[in-house]
Amino acid sequence: MFVPRSLKIKRNANEDGKNCVTKKMKPEAEDLQLDKGRDVPFDALVKKEATTPDRHSSESCPLPSPAGQLAEVCSVGPEQGAKDSHPSEEPVKSFSKTQRWAEPGEPVCVVCGRYGEYICDKTDEDVCSLECKAKHLLQVREKEEKLKLSNPQKADLEPESLLNAFYVYKEHPFILNLQENQIENLKRQLGILVQGQEVTRPIIDFEHCGFPEALNHNLKKSGYEVPTPIQMQMIPVGLLGRDILASADTGSGKTAAFLLPVIIRALFESKTPSALILTPTRELAIQIEKQAKELMSGLPRMKTVLLVGGLPLPPQLYRLQQHVKVGRVGRLGQNGTAITFINNNSKRLFWDIAKRVKPTGSILPPQLLNSPYLHDQKRKEQQKDKQTQNDLVTGANLMDIIRKHDKSNSQK
Ligand code: AMP
Repeated sequence: MFVPRSLKIKRNANEDGKNCVTKKMKPEAEDLQLDKGRDVPFDALVKKEATTPDRHSSESCPLPSPAGQLAEVCSVGPEQGAKDSHPSEEPVKSFSKTQRWAEPGEPVCVVCGRYGEYICDKTDEDVCSLECKAKHLLQVREKEEKLKLSNPQKADLEPESLLNAFYVYKEHPFILNLQENQIENLKRQLGILVQGQEVTRPIIDFEHCGFPEALNHNLKKSGYEVPTPIQMQMIPVGLLGRDILASADTGSGKTAAFLLPVIIRALFESKTPSALILTPTRELAIQIEKQAKELMSGLPRMKTVLLVGGLPLPPQLYRLQQHVKVGRVGRLGQNGTAITFINNNSKRLFWDIAKRVKPTGSILPPQLLNSPYLHDQKRKEQQKDKQTQNDLVTGANLMDIIRKHDKSNSQK
């Protein structure tokens, strides 16, 4: 199967065929306008699909398709199209040269660097065409063969059998055998400052982590020969599952420092691995996903989804629907964790949130519980309740209310 990155406007199979022939003979002006709708929001695409199910709907297709490309697209043929793409979608591009170049922030083909319009179903990597998918699978196979030859015992253990394995970080004998003053000297020389109780010793080599062979291979391939100081200290602490607050210069390797423990824990701890990485900027999110993919390559069932503003929504929705299980929870009797982020911008809601969440048994943060806004809102609500109570007509206060009413009328 070949997975398209974008949700496309649905057309029936006959119409697809008709368009293909037309495009093959001579691209029509209308076809050349496909580019127009590239940045149409998803909502708009859905509406257009619902209201104009015919040929005109193709104008809002989110994919750019210059004339030359259309010609090549059609040469895929009906069998290929049926095998490799959804029947209601345009046939996938056959050749790398018919694919356009990726724009900043867009997925990039792992083979040729053009626009990674499709996702290879076998590896979850971005590819631009059938040609690059085939090349990519060949490269993956070669890599696996090489790994087997270089280390037959370890290669046998990977990758699927990793899922049944278990990972516990243990200090490597080399690290264990170092004297305390040697460790202190090392930290001083590398500028590693640590606060916290019983913080584990830093590693000196990636080998000290006991990572799966595929991950060691990815590290080497990415040019990570030795860990940087922030990685030396953060990785073992992260592998132990402790909370970390870290600070280091730009370009010092912080990303891999948190990604490696996230990857390992997601890989070994659960059958449905999931981790959420929040970043302050879109560029950083794109960069982190790229690095995560490099490090996760070849590890079983590890997938990423990039959710950012300012890029077309359909591919993001597609990924989210397909792969995410470094959905809504608590349904149908299942337990789950939901995280609500609040800050002073939502201070008007503090008391409402606390009231709703408290009965579920959730632990509320002291910052929220001690907030003066929350107490102010609570007090105001209690006063209002009291007032409402006073205004209620009951057997006990009925005579009082009538007297008050008479009095005010006589005064008038
Ligand atoms: P970061 O500070 O995480 O943005 O990383 C800066 C750059 O250093 C990125 O291009 C990383 O790929 C690279 N990098 C991170 N860790 C290492 C390492 N141990 N060895 C070599 N390069 C690294």
